[in-house]
Amino acid sequence: MKKDGKQDRGKKQCERCVICRRETDVPADLEIGLRRFYIEGAGQLCPACYRELYR
Ligand SMILES: [Zn+2]
Repeated sequence: MKKDGKQDRGKKQCERCVICRRETDVPADLEIGLRRFYIEGAGQLCPACYRELYR
């Protein structure tokens, strides 16, 4: 896993979409089992990219 060390203070750290790199609304510390749009082996997707893949 890559770590870029950039963290906005006072703002919740959210996962980025592995495809478009946009920030999702999934908290980085959320259990994988509770995440939506998470693909095992790939990572977190945003709803738009998820829809592209699974339409
Ligand atoms: Zn995306």
